[in-house]
Amino acid sequence: MSSSCKDFFIENELVAVLTTQPLDRLLDYRAPEGGCHAGAFVEVPLGPRKVLGVVWGAGRGDFDIAKIRQVIRVLDVAPMRAEMQDFLRRAADYTLTPMPAMLRLATRAPGLSNPPSMQKIYRHGRMMPARMTDARKRVLAVLEDYGGLAFTLGELAEQAGVTPSVIKGLVGQGAVLEEDCPRDLPFPWLDPDRGGKALTEDQANAAEVLRDAIRGGDYGTTLLRGVTGSGKTEVYLEAVAETLKGRRQALVLLPEIALTSEFITRIEARFGAKPAEWHSGVTMTERRRTWKMVGEGGAQVVVGARSALFLPFRDLGLIVVDEEHDNSYKQEDGVLYNARDMAVLRASICGAQVVLASATPSLESWANAEAGKYRRLDLKARFGPAVMPEMRAIDMRCETLPSSRWISPSLQAAVNARIARGEQALLFINRRGYAPVTLCRACGHQIGCDHCDARMVEHRFQKRLVCHQCGETKPVPQTCPSCGAEDRLAAVGPGVERLTEEAQALFPDARIATLSSDMFGSARALKEQIREIAEGDTDIVIGTQLVAKGHNFPRLTLVGVIDADLGLQGSDLRAAERTFQLMRQVAGRAGRAEARGAALLQTFQPEHPVIRAILSGNEEGFWRAEADERRHAGVPPFGRMAGIILSSPDAQQVFDFAAELARRDAPVRAIGAQVFGPAPAPIARIRGRHRVRLLVKAPKGVALQGALAKWVGQLKIPAQLRLSIDIDPQSF
Ligand code: ADP
Ligand code: ZN
Repeated sequence: MSSSCKDFFIENELVAVLTTQPLDRLLDYRAPEGGCHAGAFVEVPLGPRKVLGVVWGAGRGDFDIAKIRQVIRVLDVAPMRAEMQDFLRRAADYTLTPMPAMLRLATRAPGLSNPPSMQKIYRHGRMMPARMTDARKRVLAVLEDYGGLAFTLGELAEQAGVTPSVIKGLVGQGAVLEEDCPRDLPFPWLDPDRGGKALTEDQANAAEVLRDAIRGGDYGTTLLRGVTGSGKTEVYLEAVAETLKGRRQALVLLPEIALTSEFITRIEARFGAKPAEWHSGVTMTERRRTWKMVGEGGAQVVVGARSALFLPFRDLGLIVVDEEHDNSYKQEDGVLYNARDMAVLRASICGAQVVLASATPSLESWANAEAGKYRRLDLKARFGPAVMPEMRAIDMRCETLPSSRWISPSLQAAVNARIARGEQALLFINRRGYAPVTLCRACGHQIGCDHCDARMVEHRFQKRLVCHQCGETKPVPQTCPSCGAEDRLAAVGPGVERLTEEAQALFPDARIATLSSDMFGSARALKEQIREIAEGDTDIVIGTQLVAKGHNFPRLTLVGVIDADLGLQGSDLRAAERTFQLMRQVAGRAGRAEARGAALLQTFQPEHPVIRAILSGNEEGFWRAEADERRHAGVPPFGRMAGIILSSPDAQQVFDFAAELARRDAPVRAIGAQVFGPAPAPIARIRGRHRVRLLVKAPKGVALQGALAKWVGQLKIPAQLRLSIDIDPQSF
């Protein structure tokens, strides 16, 4: 394996290559003519195929030298840096992920191995075609959705579902522009000296601490805590500026793509140009360019989703994790990692600073700050005249409501008062769709998904039942699939769509907008809706979790939480933390402007300790009480946990295997860990696969990963069965 020497040239005849193929070892190849750099991206033959790989070091030559094949070519991109190799290796060790899977994460640039030919790219033109067809409409709609970004011919044809000739036809009419691919163009220069806003004393002090840390050039993590609207973003933009002045790169991670366009505008206002973007809404062509430019240093700032952590930065000096407590930083598919933790790992390897920003930090980060591992900066007040909203409970036991109604008379009156003054109200419910349950009134049968252990959720917007686990949809049946009774199926419980219906009836003259992630076919439509709300063209916003995250609606002064108890049900140990974060976050939407806001929580248990903590705003007290409980239970962050998820289409097989694994738990018991289970996983069946979970609880400071590897390594995994290890699971 390579040393940590930065630019190490291999003159050896043989090189060891890590490929993206699922083989957990390095393969020897003959070096290309004239040798190559360690870390070079190469194309190598593997069986009958050509695959992508990275030269990991010098080859060992312990095979028959005559059979060793030649590297096909070295790709025209910057070699992987030694610190990136180190990062991938340590991330692999931490998450118990095979190296090829890590390399796949790090080479997510589509077409990385395509020859760097001068491809053409296509973007929106100014003319309208003389004759409009459905196919042409689809092409133009795709280009519009991506707001001016460019596609290759193949990508655009695929996205729009048309043949390339349709696009060529539009080019002929000037409706689509054909240009040379800008893949090697650096991004426009971001100017750190343009100067930001004049900071308040609190903000200025925090910014100075961060600048100082960045000038030091070493690793460090800072928890930047402050209520929504206190100026955390302004402060960390100062840290970005300082990083750019030191000629290093900065990465800002956001939890939700819907937030990026607002944020990009802010960066542009602060630094005079747009940064690079990296998330699923970015076209292939742009991603290819970003990947390359990040490696060459031609992208100073990247704004992105968690996978941006695996970009090949030339010299990364700062990672910001905004809304660091957000669940979406945990990748729950494929490689199971938490981007917040991986950001800290990556920064510690490359000598960068990490800023974890949140109004409601995760208990992990709070505890790390308490323990002195992280620096902690607090912004105490909201910026300007804005103050935290007044928080009150609406005791639902005292409200009279007809059945299938969820907006209490008290909440209704409060909303009316606000809209009469020309202000906005937000009604929050954390449930997508129309109703969470469809039930037969004759036999009590609930309609479930055929492939998952989950109820189907009615979506009137799509006119279908949808499984939120696997995405399967079916029409709402007329007769009960269980007893055959006709017209007895009823929607039970509220979802965001049903709440909209109720609000329309209660507030007939109000302009109502509904925001739910599944209601927008495109990022652009969502952006448009958010802009309309921000500009004040709406009286009542009805939304799911999507609205809790970071949008700035200046006229919004009232938040009504329809069901504050929702997250407190169930046995999840993080339930209290999550509910606390979500409620504080949602409440923070109110009163970001001059008018004092209010947040009203509808609850059936106003005396519940979590509800009381939310209302009193005693955050420090809440964290301390929550920390005491977790410490007592020996669970994260005061102990280690890991989940082993086993799944198979065959229920018997998966239970038998899990039981066998549980019997052979000596390697984990040896480090003082306990094994719980096997038990059905939190969702016991997804896409037809039965899922069983074993939970491992270990004391802090033991070599958990090594013991887990030894443990599961004892058994051969049968065909059909899948095993995945989830270090630090979200629910336990
Ligand atoms: P947070 O990230 O903590 O939610 P922001 O940085 O987004 O807070 O600040 C909230 C709003 O207040 C933004 O519109 C921001 O531009 C404005 N703001 C914050 N601090 C200042 C300042 N010192 N001068 C001018 N505007 C500010
Ligand atoms: Zn399903």
